[in-house]
Amino acid sequence: MSAQQETGTATAHRVVILGAGYAGMAAAVQLAARVKGCEEVRVTVVNAQERFTERMRLHMTATGQPLAELSVPELLEGTGARFVRGWVTAVDADAKTVRIDDDRVLPYDTLVYGLGGVTDTSAVPGAEDHAYTLSSAQDAELLADRLAGLRSGTVVVAGSGLTGVESAAEIAERHPRLSVVLLGGQEPGAAMNPKARAYVQAALDRLGVRVRAGAEVVKVLPGAVELADGESIETDAVLWTGGTRVSPLAAAAGLAVDERGRVVTDAALRSVSHPEVYAIGDAAAIRQGYGVMHGTCQGGMPTGVHAALSIDRMLRGRQPKPFRFGYYHTPVSLGRGDAVVQFTRPDDSPRRFCLVGRMAVRYKETVTASPWPTYGRMKKMPASGAFWPRGGRFTRARGTK
Ligand SMILES: Cc1cc2nc3c(=O)[nH]c(=O)nc-3n(C[C@H](O)[C@H](O)[C@H](O)COP(=O)(O)OP(=O)(O)OC[C@H]3O[C@@H](n4cnc5c(N)ncnc54)[C@H](O)[C@@H]3O)c2cc1C
Repeated sequence: MSAQQETGTATAHRVVILGAGYAGMAAAVQLAARVKGCEEVRVTVVNAQERFTERMRLHMTATGQPLAELSVPELLEGTGARFVRGWVTAVDADAKTVRIDDDRVLPYDTLVYGLGGVTDTSAVPGAEDHAYTLSSAQDAELLADRLAGLRSGTVVVAGSGLTGVESAAEIAERHPRLSVVLLGGQEPGAAMNPKARAYVQAALDRLGVRVRAGAEVVKVLPGAVELADGESIETDAVLWTGGTRVSPLAAAAGLAVDERGRVVTDAALRSVSHPEVYAIGDAAAIRQGYGVMHGTCQGGMPTGVHAALSIDRMLRGRQPKPFRFGYYHTPVSLGRGDAVVQFTRPDDSPRRFCLVGRMAVRYKETVTASPWPTYGRMKKMPASGAFWPRGGRFTRARGTK
């Protein structure tokens, strides 16, 4: 198939959105709704699978809990955006093309880069070969199968950040016959206020999770993990949650990236080296007044919407506006029956206020379930997706209001 056939008329401005995760979907729906009926703009969304990956629920997938079937092409129906299923293998930033694994080549005039991130298994020998991850729904399903097949035994969750905490709690609750050990450099809930942190630790205790804070895993073996102090812990399954890494495609394309491979953007979310490329979500290094944003859905969706608004403005001959975002919460599930929500300042530091128990469970579920209906609403009312906390003085550049 020729490039021409792939993306429509010769005169149309071709916007290609890579990745239909939380950020990519926000960009796709927002932009498609704004340019609907306009023959001069063609929006194409490329994603590895048709099913939307609810990344925030992958610890549920890993414990065998079925999730709703959410279809990206079905959601895009009626928006005018075209869906291409495929694995992106290369971006040629000079030729302005994207290559898909079946050798199709998609030309673009504007690219939105939203390929997210995966678990980083490169830091410790053996993690890549012997540990399970929550990088994708398929990876989480592999762990689910393993856990379902164990009558007894030990599961090590390596990494005591929030993904590790949520996963350890979920596994302990769903598989009470298994012994769950949570290993990591930091105390679970380390970034929370003392009340929320104590609540997390008490919940893990109640679920029988053995927490070993300060334990650094230096090697993963087929049936054990080795710690920095020489201790070895025998295990029947290791879930690796220690950090994330991004696709090497952006760096290979010659886009300016940071030390973690994320696309460095200007204030309007354009690549600093290639302004026709917008970067969003976990794949982007976006600087705010308080520092570079870290990967979350709460911040990722606004980046997608903002990129769409900027492209729409640019197509109308106007300048894009600077992106501003301030964090407001950290909701953490502790199994299905318990949770904690730490409210935060815009720079993500903890406030004094937190929710725990049933109220927190309801809050967390509302937040986790909200992206899909939000996209649905945006199809009809694009402006409904454009509300998020701008971060006030935490993100205000000098000299602006
Ligand atoms: C267990 C867990 C719980 C979490 N809980 C929270 C939470 O409570 N709140 C919160 O804000 N954040 C949470 N996060 C983080 C949040 O999920 C991520 O920040 C968010 O998914 C980032 O969105 P994204 O669109 O940038 O990337 P993703 O959602 O990862 O989407 C990227 C998309 O690109 C596709 N893709 C990647 N590479 C290619 C390729 N080469 N070709 C084609 N397609 C490709 C992927 O298949 C995927 O569909 C959690 C994460 C995990 C793992």
